[in-house]
Formats: sequence, C-alpha cells, structure tokens
Amino acid sequence: MVSWSDSESTDGSGAQYISSDDSPLKIPATIDEPSFEGLADDLNVICEHGNPGRKYVAFEGISTGRRFIACATEGVGNCGLVKWVDEHWPEHLQNAIHKLWLMYEHSQHENKMACLKHSSTVHNLTQQKKELQETYEKLVEDVNNLLDYKDSQPEVNQKNDAENISVSVESSMTKDVEIKKLKAVVDQLKKIHVAQATVIRNLKFNHLKEKEKLTSDKRTLEICYADLKKEKDDLKKEKDKLDCCIAELMKVKEKLTMEKSTLASCIVELKTAGDSNKRKLHQIKAICDED
Ligand SMILES: [Zn+2]
Repeated sequence: MVSWSDSESTDGSGAQYISSDDSPLKIPATIDEPSFEGLADDLNVICEHGNPGRKYVAFEGISTGRRFIACATEGVGNCGLVKWVDEHWPEHLQNAIHKLWLMYEHSQHENKMACLKHSSTVHNLTQQKKELQETYEKLVEDVNNLLDYKDSQPEVNQKNDAENISVSVESSMTKDVEIKKLKAVVDQLKKIHVAQATVIRNLKFNHLKEKEKLTSDKRTLEICYADLKKEKDDLKKEKDKLDCCIAELMKVKEKLTMEKSTLASCIVELKTAGDSNKRKLHQIKAICDED
C-alpha cells in the first residue's frame, strides 16, 4: 500500500495515509482527475454520516493539485469532512501556483473590463448613428420643402411682377416704389435660398464624413475584440498545459513514493536476514567453544 505521509507511522491503521491538518470546514473547489476519484473505501476514511468519503483533487489557491477526501453527500447534507491526502506543497511550489492564480484572475478582470468598455462604446455609437439618421432624414425633408418652394417661387414672382407692372402703368409713381421694394424682397429671398442650400450641402458632407469615421471606428473595435478573444483562448490553452504538467508531476511523485516504500521493505528483509545470520554465527561459535 502506498504511504503519502512523510513520517513513517507504525500503528498500521488506515489513518496513517492522511496528513493531519487543521483544515477549515469549507470544501475546496475541485478538478476532474481520473487517477484519483470515486469512493475512498480503500483509504478507510469515514465521515460523520458513517459513510466512506469521496476522493477529490483540489483546484483552488495554493492547494491546487492536492488530493483530499471529503464527505460523499452533495449539497446541504454534506457533513464538512475534509481530510488531506497530500501534505502542503513546498513553499516555492505554493508561490508559483499562487502567482499563476493571480495572473489568471488579473487576466479575467482585464477581459471583463475591456468587454464592458466595448459594450459602452458600441452603445454610444449606436445612439450617435440613430441621432445622425434622424438629422439626415430631417435634412432631406427640408431640402425637398425648399426645392418645392423654389419651384413655386418664380411663378409667384412673375405673377406679382406682372400685376404690379400693370397696376403701376395704370396708377401713380408710388406703385413703382412698391415694385422696387418687392423686387428687393425677392432678391433677398433668393440670397437666403442660396445660403440655405450651401448650409445643407455642408451639413450633408459633414454627416457623410462622420458616418465614415464611425464605420472605421467600428471596424477597429471589432479587430480589438477579435484580438482579445484570441488572447483569452491562448491563456486557456496555457492553463490546460499547466494542468497537464501538474498531473504529470503527481504521477512522478506517486511512482517515487512507491519506490521508497519498496526500498524500505527490502531494508527490513535484509535486516532480518542479517539478524538470522548473526544468530547462526553465534550458534557456530558456541559449538566451536564446546569443542
Ligand atoms: Zn458525511
């Protein structure tokens, strides 16, 4: 049987396989590990329910990779049994695992923040696009109204001019003054139309430019998002690789422990053989002395 305890216990009970450890009742997060799973009836660990515990491998903090036995009952009925099979990892390994978890948490946090920032930018861009669309539609409507007005204007002017001229021919010099005034108003109106058309053209141009900028911004954001996604995938792959490494190390440790145990039993056998030889020598010496 494999002994995971560093201190060689001689009482022969199943409890010698468990490192004594004042663990908190909280059961650590676990990871699937085919080499250490299922009921722990071979390790002789019984929980408060009187049932054999279940084997788990921790996947939390500096205990990541340590094997333990916990109550097999899931949910609220769990009696809180946690018996560690592996001792605490050496300090340098704990530091390395701690650093890895910090890196993982940092990366998770960064991803979350970037996602939030991107969603807010996308929301703002959508809002701006909506507003621009409304402005654009209103401008188109204004231009159409202006064009309609412009189409109807010359007829009215001509009509007014003709009427005014006929009246002025018939009447006095005051009418000439009125005609001049009306002509001035028409000229002014024409100038206003030209200015309005220029403003509308400029607005339309600016709107198109802004739309192009927004489209390019959106493209940039999409590229950023793709990069972030790729980085996340890479981190996940790295994590998987590390998990594999930990599993390999566990296997190597188990193998070494088995070898150690075999060597110990060899030493005991050799010692027994030595004692027996010593006894035989004593007997031979006694026989020689008698002679
Ligand atoms: Zn239990």
